[in-house]
Amino acid sequence: MRIETLRHKLRALGAGPLHEQRVLRLWSQALPQDSGRRRIADFLPRALREALPALELELAGLARLASAHPAADGSERLLVQLADGQTVESVLLPHGGLCVSTQVGCAVGCVFCMTGKSGLLRQLGGAEIVAQVALARRRRPVGKVVFMGMGEPAHNLDNVLEAIELLGTVGNVGHKNLVFSTVGDMRAFERLPQGRVRPALALSLHTTRADLRERLLPRAPRIAPDELVEQGERYARATGYPIQYQWTLLEGINDGDDELDGIARLLHGKYAVLNMIPYNAVDGLAFRRPSWERAAAIARQLHRRGVLTKLRQSAGQDVEGGCGQLRARVQGGGAQ
Ligand code: SF4
Repeated sequence: MRIETLRHKLRALGAGPLHEQRVLRLWSQALPQDSGRRRIADFLPRALREALPALELELAGLARLASAHPAADGSERLLVQLADGQTVESVLLPHGGLCVSTQVGCAVGCVFCMTGKSGLLRQLGGAEIVAQVALARRRRPVGKVVFMGMGEPAHNLDNVLEAIELLGTVGNVGHKNLVFSTVGDMRAFERLPQGRVRPALALSLHTTRADLRERLLPRAPRIAPDELVEQGERYARATGYPIQYQWTLLEGINDGDDELDGIARLLHGKYAVLNMIPYNAVDGLAFRRPSWERAAAIARQLHRRGVLTKLRQSAGQDVEGGCGQLRARVQGGGAQ
C-alpha cells in the first residue's frame, strides 16, 4: 500500500488534515489509543472512529513478526512477514536504531551479498516500510531509521521518500536520524534535496577503482567513485550532514595500499565519515573478512591521513548477520 492511498482512504472517511495526522501518528509511533488524557480516537469524526479498528487491523497485517533473533551485541534481527507471505528483515540496533528493508530481494546484485543473489522479487509499498518501524516500536523505542536492509532504496524511490516524509513529520524521527543508503543513483541525488524531509545519506563506495566497482556491484548505475564523492559532497554541504561512506572490507580485494591511497585522495577534506565494516562471511560465497587487527591498522592509517574512519561490526553477526541470510535460511532458498 502506498501512503498516499492510505491518506485518500482517511479523507474518504471524513478526516481533515489534523485527523489524518493523528491517525498516522498513532500508527507510525505505535502509540496506545488511550495515550494522553482521552482516547485519541475520541477526537476523530464518527465514520473514521468506527472504521478505525478495521483499519488498524489492516495496517498491522502489513508487517507481522515471523521470528525475532536477539544477538549478543544488543541488536535484534527480525524476520518480518508481509501480507502476501513474502518476508524481509529488519534489525533493531543498539541505542535505538532500526534498519529497515525497502524491497524484497534486490536488483543491484552485489557479488558479496545474499540478498543480491535472488534478484528483485518486488517493491515494498511506503506503508510496508513504515509498518516495519511500527512493528519494531512495539518491542523497543526507535529514534533512528536507516534504509540499509534488503533492497536498494533508489530503485524504489517514490515509496521510500513517502516513508521518509511520514517518519520525519508525524513519525517522531529527526531528519538527520533518517539515513537513506544507496549505491549511488542520479535520480536520488536529484530528488533528495527537494524533499520536505531531507534525510542523511550513506553511499556504498566499497572501492575507489571504477573497474573493480563494476565487478563488485554489477548492476549499480555506472557512476565512477570520483563522481559519486562529488555528488555526495554537494548533498552534505546542502544539508549540513556528513556523508557516511560505506566500505565492506574484503580480504585481498579492497584492503590493499592502492585502495588506501585512493581513499585518502577522494575523501581527505570532505564532509564525510568512512564506515569500514569487515565482511560478514556467507557460506557458499568465496569472500573473506580480513583479521580485526588488519582492519584496525587500516582505520588507523586512514585517520593519520585525514580521513575520519570508523571501524564497525555489522550488527547481530552471531544471528545470520549479513543482510538477507536469515530470510534465505528460513525460506530454504539460500546457502545456510
Ligand atoms: Fe542490494 Fe545492498 Fe545487497 Fe547490494 S548489498 S545487492 S545494494 S541489498
